[in-house]
Parts: sequence; C-alpha cells; structure tokens
Amino acid sequence: VRDERVYASTDGQGTLSIAPQGALDRDDCLAQMVFHELCHSLIEGPESLRKPDWGLDNETGRDVPREHACLRVQAALADPLGLRRFLAPTTDFRLFYDALSANPLAPRTDATVQLARIGLGRATRPPWAPFLHDALETTARIAAATSLLSEPSLPSLYDVVDPPWPRHPSGFSVAPYYAREGGCGTCAWRFVGGPGRPVDRCRQADSARVRPDMPACERWEPALNCLECGACCRAAYDSVTISGRESLVSDRPDLVVRRPGYWELRRSGDHCAALAEQQPFLCSVYPQRPQTCRDFARGGNHCLTARRRLGLSL
Ligand code: SF4
Ligand code: SF4
Repeated sequence: VRDERVYASTDGQGTLSIAPQGALDRDDCLAQMVFHELCHSLIEGPESLRKPDWGLDNETGRDVPREHACLRVQAALADPLGLRRFLAPTTDFRLFYDALSANPLAPRTDATVQLARIGLGRATRPPWAPFLHDALETTARIAAATSLLSEPSLPSLYDVVDPPWPRHPSGFSVAPYYAREGGCGTCAWRFVGGPGRPVDRCRQADSARVRPDMPACERWEPALNCLECGACCRAAYDSVTISGRESLVSDRPDLVVRRPGYWELRRSGDHCAALAEQQPFLCSVYPQRPQTCRDFARGGNHCLTARRRLGLSL
C-alpha cells in the first residue's frame, strides 16, 4: 500500500507500505522498491516475514552489513536479466551498489558476500520461488520492449536496460566475469560419473552433462581447498554420528558424547571439537577420523550442501 508516513516499511503481517510517488526520489521506481524489500527478506530469512521491517534496525548502523548483503543480492539477481542498472536502489546506499565490482559476490570470503549467497539460495525456494524470478523475468521483458520505444533525445530509465546474459546448457547463466577462468573444465563442481559410460557432469545442475570446453556459468568455482573451508566440520552440520566400534570412542573419550542408542562427535561452539578453531581448518584426529567423515567427499553433494549452508557456495 502507499503510505505517506513511511518511505518503505513492512508491518510483519504481510503488508509492505511505500511512500506515495511524489515523496520518492526522482529516479526511484515502484518495482525497484518492492524488489529491494524482497531482497531484504532473502537476507533475513523466512522468520523475517513476520517481523516489522524484516527485523532490521533502521535507526543505528547495526545492520549496515546486512544492507550491503541485500544490495549484493539485488545486483546478483538482476545481473543475468540485464537489469542491474535498471533496478538500482536510490538513497545513500546507491553509492555502495554502484561501487560493486562486475561480480557482486566478490571477494569470496567477505562476510556480506556469504550472507548474500545464503539469501540467493533462499530465492530458489518457496515462498520466494517461483514468484520472484518470474516477476524479474517479466520485468526484463517489459523493460526490453519499452526501451525500444524510448525517445532518444529524452533521458529515460529504460536507457539502462542491458542485454541479458546468455544461457548456459546447464540451465544457469553464463557469467561474463568468469570468462577467463576456463569454464566447466576448471570448475570445482564438474565431476566424472555414470550411469553408464562415465561422462562429465555438473554437481550444481543435478548431475546434468557438461563438457570441459563449455564456458563458466554463474556458479563456477575454482578447486576447493578444505583447509580454507572446513564447512562440513563447522556449522553446516549439528551432529556427526559415529559407531561405538570406532577407535576414537575408546582412544579419545573427550571427543565423543554418548546419546541414547548412538555416539556422536562432541561439539565445541559451532564446530566439531576435533577441529582447529582457526584457519587453516585442520582435523586434529585426521588419521583416526570416523567413517562418517571418511565418507564425506570433497566436491560431492554433501560438500555442496555444507558450503551452501555457510554461504561459501551458491
Ligand atoms: S557449476 Fe561449474 S561445471 Fe556446472 S555448469 Fe557451472 S561452470 Fe560448468
Ligand atoms: S569436503 Fe567440502 S565442505 Fe568439507 S572442508 Fe572440503 S570443501 Fe569444505
């Protein structure tokens, strides 16, 4: 609804209020404001849908990093459709948005990038999917058609609609900023597997077939380094069950906990008690690690899930 008492605000009960058109910045548009607010909800998670202003503190600087993560999500969702400039935010945060590099999810280890990746993961699930993506695609079609009609002598928001990125055979988009990275052939998520004759497949695309010479898509990642990651031993999993027959149970009783009917590795804060807390992430009992950990394959489905939970991968 339009409400002259606010600029943009949610009540936590399903209503988004936005100021009347005359109170907005001249280059603002309603679509961008709705989109920006939904990007906030992606960062804050499903619980935020029931909190006023997504649970954010707009009075102090406490949530500035979360605002930055929101702006990274906004750029990352708009980019493949050629809408990054068209759906740019206004207000003070425009400076941050405009200063983002071609890849809004760089640098990879930035905490706001990790928050943004978690938010982008939510965009692929209800209640955001499929509606948010459908709305963006429809917006892109309208913007592309309208930009053809704009009067060249008059400046228009429709002048900044860019061509969409090419589609990758995997179903993702081809990211121009990975053009020099070598494509599927150098990607951490390419693997060789069946059924039948083993061929190159993509872990990100539900094991769809790829070829090493295909260009890099938006989910391309360089070779994984477990010592820099540790996601599987950190917050990605709450519990690692082990068998009572494993040598660790008798040799390192300080690292195991007895539960009704099973054993599990003890936690220390948000990570396995056997993990060195600082990078590089080293397992202190690696030669004796339980079977659950031995079965965990780098670059496998569980590895991808663990990295997604921590915002290390899309
Ligand atoms: S995630 Fe990697 S292997 Fe999969 S399509 Fe993208 S670049 Fe290719
Ligand atoms: S197996 Fe995967 S999730 Fe675990 S540390 Fe290695 S790269 Fe990270």
